Amino acid sequence: METSKQQGTINVTTENIFPIIKKFLYSDHEIFLRELISNAVDATQKLKTLSSIGEFTGELGDLTIRVTLDQEKKTLTVSDRGVGMTAKEIDKYINQIAFSGAEEFMKKYKKEANAIIGHFGLGFYSAFMVSDQVEIITKSYKRGKAVNWSCNGSPDYTIEDSDREHRGTDIILHIDKESSEFLEEGRIQTLLTKYSRFLPVPIAFGKEKEWKNNKYEETDRDNIINNTEPAWTKKPADLTDDDYAKFYRELYPMAEDPLFHIHLNVDFPFNLTGILYFPKIRNNYEVQKNKIQLYSNQVYVTDSVEGIVPDFLTLLHGVIDSPDIPLNVSRSYLQSDQNVKKISAHITKKVADRLQEIFANDREQFEQKWDDLKLFINYGMLTEEKFWDKAREFALLKNTDDKYFTYEEYKNIIKDNQTDKNGTLVYLYANDKDEQFSFIRSAKDKGYDVLLMDGQFDTHFLNHLEEKLEKSHFVRVDSDVVDKLIDKSAKKESKLDPALQTWLNPVFKSQAPGEGYFVTFEALDEKASPVIITQSEWSRRMKEMSKFSGGMSFYKELPDSFNLVINSNHPVVQLIGEELKQAHGSEAGKFDEEAAKVKAEQDSLEQLLKGKKEDEIAQEEKDKRTELTAKIQEAEKQRDEILAAYGRENPLVKQLIDLALLATNKLTGEALDAFVQRSIGLLGNHK
Ligand code: ADP
Ligand code: MG
Repeated sequence: METSKQQGTINVTTENIFPIIKKFLYSDHEIFLRELISNAVDATQKLKTLSSIGEFTGELGDLTIRVTLDQEKKTLTVSDRGVGMTAKEIDKYINQIAFSGAEEFMKKYKKEANAIIGHFGLGFYSAFMVSDQVEIITKSYKRGKAVNWSCNGSPDYTIEDSDREHRGTDIILHIDKESSEFLEEGRIQTLLTKYSRFLPVPIAFGKEKEWKNNKYEETDRDNIINNTEPAWTKKPADLTDDDYAKFYRELYPMAEDPLFHIHLNVDFPFNLTGILYFPKIRNNYEVQKNKIQLYSNQVYVTDSVEGIVPDFLTLLHGVIDSPDIPLNVSRSYLQSDQNVKKISAHITKKVADRLQEIFANDREQFEQKWDDLKLFINYGMLTEEKFWDKAREFALLKNTDDKYFTYEEYKNIIKDNQTDKNGTLVYLYANDKDEQFSFIRSAKDKGYDVLLMDGQFDTHFLNHLEEKLEKSHFVRVDSDVVDKLIDKSAKKESKLDPALQTWLNPVFKSQAPGEGYFVTFEALDEKASPVIITQSEWSRRMKEMSKFSGGMSFYKELPDSFNLVINSNHPVVQLIGEELKQAHGSEAGKFDEEAAKVKAEQDSLEQLLKGKKEDEIAQEEKDKRTELTAKIQEAEKQRDEILAAYGRENPLVKQLIDLALLATNKLTGEALDAFVQRSIGLLGNHK
């Protein structure tokens, strides 16, 4: 390059690559600034490397990278004091655009060069996405003249000598009409903060401003955009807890203090640094505003890390920095990239190890924070097999007395008393301590322990636990009466005459609080409650889960159904039975006799027809059969109507059912008021 002015055509295979660059290179045009700043940082780091190995012996001087706007000329300039370029290098690195200078430099200075950002490819040319002309004025640290390169967006360029005196490079963008937003100070300030906030070389954008004489005035101090030594680039040993907390606030000024941090620091088999924080998340589906930020050698790349780290880790906050993540390619490529997969697995392992460490070293702290950590850990256990394997050692269960146990500890506590006749371990749980208070108490009275599972996510998780833990079953305390929660098959005798029990059914049914209540009788302890309302574990869980998943809508449609369980051994139930006998015994008995008579007739008919096939039975006999069945039903119906009428007027029956509703928090408003009034009335009767 001897002559002072030259022209040429940029060496690309496609005749005109610029329209392509403009449209398709990056969908986000703003990325150009990241690329130019990265190049400036690279050039500066190269110079520092050369200086440290003695290949550059001059003064480094002030290495600050400066970004300036000129509104009149409509230019944006990025200036650095890095290595600069000779005319030859411009030809090689700029004119032949497929050739990346960084790659060659990396090869040559393998060890020292890992601070170099740019192995991205077409970085410099992204300037044409927003400019109709780009100039490079550069002077290399090597001997030789400064050069001025200029290109107006066609593949033709000019290159000539320049009178620039000092080492370094100015990249001058003549911003095009459509991109005038990049001439706005505020926009550039925002972009610089976004992409350059933690770059390792100071970056100045104009001067700091001060409130003076009732307005903002420029000072002579540089407005420095970045923190050149963010916490994650330091050694963990050099950082205090306070430093970690400060860095968290630097990242997320508005967030609540995090629970823990993990400092990632790997250099084999890939390069990865970063700090992850466990934030406080109590609301399971709370939108996360503060996301993990992905950096490559301190250059911000993205904060949508979905697919790059496992789902459950996206709930964490913090920074991951790795030059091994290929940054300028599509997301789907990233997700299948082997490096990315390894990184993801590694982070999962580190997170599990760190939790294990806190659990082992400071169980008390771990328990204190468990409620906040729970969602995160359980979600991880549910979705990542590897995480389950580790976390099952330190994941906790909390019982209704606010005590915490590991799975192993809990199993040992309940195994003697809560194993059913099939050898299945029954875990009892409540999801609302107040609502299920009486059930919890009866379970405890029986020597059972009751877990608290009050997270929205818990139903899903306990399904998973049932799958994973051997021979185990989770049952909510209110899903059956206490004697049947854990079936040990020692049945109690009922003290109630079976006929009387049949009569009591319509009596209680008449006062049931709604359609979905089914009356059943259980021979329970006489000290147990007289009436108990339960909801089957299975149907309730199906309904709960169908809320989250789109499918299984059949269960969603299902009305709530409850059991109205009457304790046939309770004295008050027996008293109601006795009174019923007194009041309507003979009347009801008549219907029963009538029905019994018809039944006897029916039996002898059936005896007669026994062995006959359907088509061998005469029509007459068939009619008789239907008639007898109808007669029995009619007698029972009439009997039940009388009994139901009696039941509807019986304050004691109503009172027992209301007590059961009260015990499950289902008695409210008018019904509650009526209950109180009735209670006072009943007290009056009881002299
Ligand atoms: P990459 O950064 O991936 O190498 P670029 O297109 O961003 O690709 O840059 C091409 C080359 O141009 C760089 O490798 C470098 O050699 C040279 N270059 C670009 N900007 C500068 C600069 N500010 N100072 C010195 N050299 C630069
Ligand atoms: Mg680059």
